[in-house]
Amino acid sequence: MPAPFDTQTGHDQHGRYPEATTVEDFRRNLAAVQARIAAACHRACRDPSSVRLLPVSKTKPEASLRLAHAAGCRMLGENKPQEAHRKWEAMQDLADLHWSVIGHLQTNKAKLVARFASEFQVLDSLRVAEALERRLQAEGRSLDVFVQVNTSGEASKYGLSPEDVQGFIKELPAFPALRVRGLMTLALFSAEAERVRQCFILLRTLRDQLQQDAPASIGLDELSMGMSGDFEIAIEEGATVVRVGQAIFGARARPDSHYWPDEPSTEESPS
Ligand SMILES: *Cc1c(COP(=O)(O)O)cnc(C)c1O
Repeated sequence: MPAPFDTQTGHDQHGRYPEATTVEDFRRNLAAVQARIAAACHRACRDPSSVRLLPVSKTKPEASLRLAHAAGCRMLGENKPQEAHRKWEAMQDLADLHWSVIGHLQTNKAKLVARFASEFQVLDSLRVAEALERRLQAEGRSLDVFVQVNTSGEASKYGLSPEDVQGFIKELPAFPALRVRGLMTLALFSAEAERVRQCFILLRTLRDQLQQDAPASIGLDELSMGMSGDFEIAIEEGATVVRVGQAIFGARARPDSHYWPDEPSTEESPS
């Protein structure tokens, strides 16, 4: 059993999740995460069906993704657009598998995302919005998007400053191929649950304020927040989407700092 939600976040415990190697492993891990979601919902007097679990498959091989699909996963979150595009191409036979991009996008990769993604959770610039809109129009597609907000104040994290979000979303009706669903954040990586919780409270409070005068075409119902180490706290603070990788797929080989900003990325360079 995980530690009680109010004593620690799990961010200091990476490596504790064993690698899932069979469909049964995935079924068991998914059931365990759903049970934790249900327990957190119960504490917060929320309906468990109000929280969507987004399994995050970044860095994991195609074989693992296929097992996750066999265990019932129908949407997977990927951090790097090129890795995600490669996996999508390799798994075209799974027509009911959808993709959510949850990692920073450079405008020169917008074309890839417009081709295959159903959801994009990290919109934080008008340049990316423009690039996606143009490519989506060309593909005849649209995309569900979340606006990423930097709630931790860490310079290393992408996302808009909370005070810039209102002005930003006022511009978004100009991009009709982007269906705005809500806000997304990465909390502080800390073992101190209360500091993590403040990030989630900030996102929810901001959303509540924005909802009062958001343009009619802008949906702000969704709050994507919480990962393996902190999703229970996020649910208590209103998360409607939790992005969970390691608790389903197993621990990643590299520390999380590798997947987030300012790390020179091999994925992003042309191969
Ligand atoms: C990797 C990642 C997650 C999932 O993290 P886990 O620790 O594997 O649960 C969630 N959100 C984003 C943006 C990620 O890059």
